[in-house]
Amino acid sequence: MTSENRFQKVAVLGAGTMGAGIAQVCAQAGSTVVLCDISDELVASGRERIRAFLQKGVDRGKTTEEQRDATLARIASATDRAAACRDVDLVVEAVPERLDLKNSIFRELGELVSPACVLASNTSSLSLAKVFDGVAGSERCIGWHFFNPVPLMKLLELVRTEATSEGTIAASQAYASLLGKEPILVKDSPGFASSRLGVCLGLEAIRMLESGVASAEDIDKAMVLGYGHPMGPLKLTDLVGLDVRLAIADYLKDELGLAGFAAPELMRRMVAEGKLGKKSGRGFYTW
Ligand code: NAD
Repeated sequence: MTSENRFQKVAVLGAGTMGAGIAQVCAQAGSTVVLCDISDELVASGRERIRAFLQKGVDRGKTTEEQRDATLARIASATDRAAACRDVDLVVEAVPERLDLKNSIFRELGELVSPACVLASNTSSLSLAKVFDGVAGSERCIGWHFFNPVPLMKLLELVRTEATSEGTIAASQAYASLLGKEPILVKDSPGFASSRLGVCLGLEAIRMLESGVASAEDIDKAMVLGYGHPMGPLKLTDLVGLDVRLAIADYLKDELGLAGFAAPELMRRMVAEGKLGKKSGRGFYTW
């Protein structure tokens, strides 16, 4: 454990896709983590995903058995949110993307945790000003937008509200480095930097496919080979889920009022037909 780790004790709320990954990287950085969900089964399944991920690293020779065991030993399980969060230096929230849920959790935590405890939300699209509305100590509140899979993706998008203090930002940036992430700093605005740009590119690619400019494979190749993107925008939309991206596009169109965010007819039709991408077996590609 390094002495400059300001977040020795961390609570992660939500043991799903993101929460499990966040708990893992925090524990790997040397923090003691409490992973909290609404049932023992859900926490156990989050822990199992972490174990399986670490085991894969062991099998490939990238992680030692000692590192696997030490990381798992630093992650405790909880279902009592108040007890899990009472003494921690940092809470990272990764519960479902519902404003009412996130806001009520942070309002409760604002009254419960120490004044120095940083409150971070992993929301991928909601306004942080709304997520933290009415929360005591708004200067220690900040967005920490991780990417899936958390242990592998280098980016951590830090989202500051009008109230977020410089100290909270500096502590977040320092911890990001301990986690092995590259932080970027973005103002609280719809879609932040990553979703706004990424979704915009994806929608334009769908419009090009719709109007017969090129095949899905060739549109993707244009970005992969011409611009060095690791994956084309249509394949990425398949991986994220067309339904997920459609909801974000509708939200951004409403919030930003820009024509580029109007969802193409083809996308709506595919979602209505259940062609959601990889998870349904069919999208722009067959999976
Ligand atoms: P998920 O459904 O996999 O996990 C959410 C977990 O939160 C579930 O296990 C659920 O039981 C739990 N939960 C619900 N209410 C809770 C409560 N009151 N206290 C504690 N736990 C509770 O969802 P996810 O994909 O991990 O997404 C979580 C958040 O991360 C969302 O805000 C999402 O927008 C954001 N996000 C997701 C991705 C992604 O690719 N999946 C990427 C970036 C950000």
